[in-house]
Amino acid sequence: MKRAFYIGRFQPYHLGHHAVLTKIADEVDEVVIGIGSAQKSHGLSDPFTAGERVMMIRHALEDINIRHYALPIEDIQQNSIWVSYILSRTPPFDVVYSNNPLVIRLFEEADITVLQSPMYQRDVYSGTEIRKKMIAGEKWEHLVPPTIADAIEEIDGVARLRSVSMTD
Ligand code: NAD
Repeated sequence: MKRAFYIGRFQPYHLGHHAVLTKIADEVDEVVIGIGSAQKSHGLSDPFTAGERVMMIRHALEDINIRHYALPIEDIQQNSIWVSYILSRTPPFDVVYSNNPLVIRLFEEADITVLQSPMYQRDVYSGTEIRKKMIAGEKWEHLVPPTIADAIEEIDGVARLRSVSMTD
């Protein structure tokens, strides 16, 4: 049994995340998905709640054949003890998948193997770009799995993001 750990903010989950998880599913038996910055929501960079992101990941992974655990994980103030904090809240895992330099650095310092996956059109498949398009009223639905577009519609996510982008 080989188990991987993959952490992201998933604001929102997009086709870049989906490509990474498809690759992970080919290489391991189970994946623990950390929903990072779980305490954040209703902000410009973090519009969706941890619970909404759990729902998005459950729906998106319906077409990827892998058993997964999606666990909300709040940020902590001390990067130096972050890996111990992660290990205390997750099922045991053998390998981490990440392209985030800080995440890679912290796990490697703890002697945990980190695999980097190719970036899939980072300029297009990017949470920042998708949120910008949502605010601007441009098409963004093709950048996420169809189940994610449906989930965002269900929670009226675009209207929320536009609201929090306004000033008084
Ligand atoms: P993200 O959703 O932007 O990305 C998740 C992962 O997917 C990353 O490895 C990223 O490189 C990868 N990715 C994104 N777009 C991709 C694409 N197009 N193709 C392939 N891969 C792509 O999330 P993130 O910001 O990297 O999440 C890291 C989380 O870890 C954050 O919530 C952060 O706060 C948390 N963290 C917390 C601490 C702490 O609490 N002290 C320390 C380190 C990290």
